Amino acid sequence: MATLEIECPVCAEVLELSDADRAELKVGDVIVCDSCNAEMEITRNGGGEDFELELLGILTLCPNCNEEFEVTEDVLAAAPTVQATDGSEVSLVSCPHCQASIELEFEDEEDRPALSSQ
Ligand SMILES: [Zn+2]
Ligand SMILES: [Zn+2]
Repeated sequence: MATLEIECPVCAEVLELSDADRAELKVGDVIVCDSCNAEMEITRNGGGEDFELELLGILTLCPNCNEEFEVTEDVLAAAPTVQATDGSEVSLVSCPHCQASIELEFEDEEDRPALSSQ
């Protein structure tokens, strides 16, 4: 049975969809990454390699109030980025429930410009 492998656009985890999984999925359905809880809407599901996803948002659990909320690309675009103590860049978003500031870190090593060592 053919299995389609999709790479999560957020955490690069490989999600495997079997033919049976895909037969159940329709355009407009949402799948969720097991690893980072990113939500992706299916925009094409034709068969074979004809499959496309659009990233909707990431479900995040607030460490302060334990409520889940969704971080979308728009939220991330508006969120300020700060340098974390370990030197990595994190985005600061605020929880819609308790207004706590939450640091979000995404691993996107492919997009990161290489640091020149001078
Ligand atoms: Zn993911
Ligand atoms: Zn909260």
